[in-house]
Amino acid sequence: MNKPVPLMKLVVKLVLAILATTANAYAASPRTCPKGTKARQTNVQKGETLAGVAGRTKTSVADLQRWNRLNGPQVRGGQNLRYCVPVFVPGSVGSCNAGNLRGGVNLDTDGDRKGVGFVLPAGRTTSWGTPATVRHIRQCMSRYRANYKKGAPVNIGDLSTRDGGHVGNHLSHQSGRDVDLGFLTKPPQSIGVFNREATATNLDVQKEWTVIQCLLDNRETQFIFASWTVVNSLKAYVVKNRSLRSRYLKFFGNGVIQGDNEHMTHLHVRFRCPKGDRQCKG
Ligand SMILES: [Zn+2]
Repeated sequence: MNKPVPLMKLVVKLVLAILATTANAYAASPRTCPKGTKARQTNVQKGETLAGVAGRTKTSVADLQRWNRLNGPQVRGGQNLRYCVPVFVPGSVGSCNAGNLRGGVNLDTDGDRKGVGFVLPAGRTTSWGTPATVRHIRQCMSRYRANYKKGAPVNIGDLSTRDGGHVGNHLSHQSGRDVDLGFLTKPPQSIGVFNREATATNLDVQKEWTVIQCLLDNRETQFIFASWTVVNSLKAYVVKNRSLRSRYLKFFGNGVIQGDNEHMTHLHVRFRCPKGDRQCKG
């Protein structure tokens, strides 16, 4: 009767394993990480104090004591400690004028400084936006390209930096929801430079309208800022065309398209807070 022994051993091992798992689950519950945070582990380095660990893990001595049921500040090298870190939630944080960007997307994914219907300046670090912003821009640039196969590409300026925050001399562009789009002029603008003021004469109204119409068709477009010259040229274009008039004239009066002489050389487009993004404001 030697044979059943290994089986018995296995059963005992299994029962012990189940008991151990259950015990761990119970042990973990009183020191569960607070809502909005998640658990991490670290080993105390040789000669490191608990205050040192707190500094390194961006926590506090009191929290580390609580999470690890320590009665005092004494720790030893190699000791494993548990701590809690805020959960990283991607999105647009705060407002466009005081915010940042988490988990943003680069409009210039492959680094070739161009995409369908657009070009980006070399060496610019401000081509990041929320995934939605980048999608909206790509969509309208593709629409422009589909309508004008040989039209000069749209000269795209700043979006936001990878982590958001202050950008150059902009007030906004901080949280991945803003983009500057060069006007479509005749002749076209130089890449990365907004040096050509759009006038009633040099603005290519038809082409510009394609971009604007696409933006207006997107309910996520919150504002479009452009010089009064451009706004009035676009409005006149819409008024002249009966089918456009019934559908798009309202945008010139409802605050979506805003005349603003700070924007003589480019459009400034802002998209709404991404759906479900609770950190986003405004
Ligand atoms: Zn801008």
